[in-house]
Amino acid sequence: MNKLTLNELDVDGKRVIMRVDFNVPIKDGIVGDDTRIVAALPSIQYVLDNGGSLILISHCGRPKGEKNMEFTLKPAADRLAELIDANITLAPDVIGDDVQSLVNSLKSGEILILENIRFYKEEEGKGCSSEDQEIFAKTLASYGDIYVSDAFGTAHRAHASMSVITKYIDICAAGFLLEKEITYLGKVLESPEHPFVAIIGGAKISGKIDVIMNLMDKCETILIGGGMAYTFYAAQGLQIGDSLLEEDKIDLAREILTQAKEKGVELLLPVDHVVADSFSEDANIKEVDGEIESGWMALDIGPKTAALYSKAVSMAKTVVWNGPMGCFEMDPFSNGTNVVCTAVASSNSVSIIGGGDSVSAVKKAGVAERMSHVSTGGGASLEFMEGKQLPGIISLTDS
Ligand code: AMP
Repeated sequence: MNKLTLNELDVDGKRVIMRVDFNVPIKDGIVGDDTRIVAALPSIQYVLDNGGSLILISHCGRPKGEKNMEFTLKPAADRLAELIDANITLAPDVIGDDVQSLVNSLKSGEILILENIRFYKEEEGKGCSSEDQEIFAKTLASYGDIYVSDAFGTAHRAHASMSVITKYIDICAAGFLLEKEITYLGKVLESPEHPFVAIIGGAKISGKIDVIMNLMDKCETILIGGGMAYTFYAAQGLQIGDSLLEEDKIDLAREILTQAKEKGVELLLPVDHVVADSFSEDANIKEVDGEIESGWMALDIGPKTAALYSKAVSMAKTVVWNGPMGCFEMDPFSNGTNVVCTAVASSNSVSIIGGGDSVSAVKKAGVAERMSHVSTGGGASLEFMEGKQLPGIISLTDS
């Protein structure tokens, strides 16, 4: 961790601008899953306990640069008020005189939450000039003395409140959540314990190519599941019936298989599958080994594959998992993901779960607590694993 962190700062009497990720699911004005709010509590509490005041910035949903109150942060603010004992005010806007006077009157121990930052197109920088984005970021920076980012989920975005604001404030640190993400994901890429097993699944190869390529230089074994496995099958001339196929990625799949062989990485593909005659829970379903005949599509890895993958995981010291093994949202096709989930949870490895669907899968399987680290960022953890520098991290002050 080569970035300044929150526990290195003196926040006493300071106004701390904290970028959090309160992009939570909301239904009828109530927060459904408050995981992201809860995850930010340690950083929030630390600032309050140490004599600082807080200006919280977050986005929620996709208001597309318009002040659309359907996307207000009020439900998130209400939930935070239930979770923390502090004086909390939700500002009526992000910028403007009313917001400025609320900022000016903020006292130590108090929290001011700005309205949804994506009410302004300057946040994402789409449909506005870069000058406008700079002015917007400068205004945000003027609200406080210190900037802290705890929004890992948005760290791959070069947005005003993530990586432009940092130009206008001297002290920019990582909050505890961001620090934890960087520590776990960084350790895996820099000095993983071996054997290191990567489990890569999900719908398509296209979203995971760079992760596979990057991890190929670091791990001994790659277990492939999900829809992407069938483009690898096709690359070997095997029949896949009506399973998911990315025709334009067949050559790439072949190249990955060749590279794995050259690098001595064991790349395993499913040996059996749960196949269905339509993409539905009510389809006719059967288990088959090897190739898949026409009229059938593979929607989950089969029990032999699940056992094979579980065995590989049980011997690992490090496991990284991104993407489910099948269409786990539908019960008949959730077994492969559940079995592998349980194997990872029961192993003695450092286990890191990244990516939105993998996180839902481990939560659904009830084993999230038994993983070493469940990343709060889908796209961000994927880009981190690809070895990319994330704008929301590199823009923070070096320690
Ligand atoms: P991704 O966002 O690429 O990680 O893909 C996650 C999605 O892949 C989930 O919604 C799964 O239902 C889907 N998926 C997993 N396995 C398959 C499969 N064999 N065929 C089609 N879709 C799949």
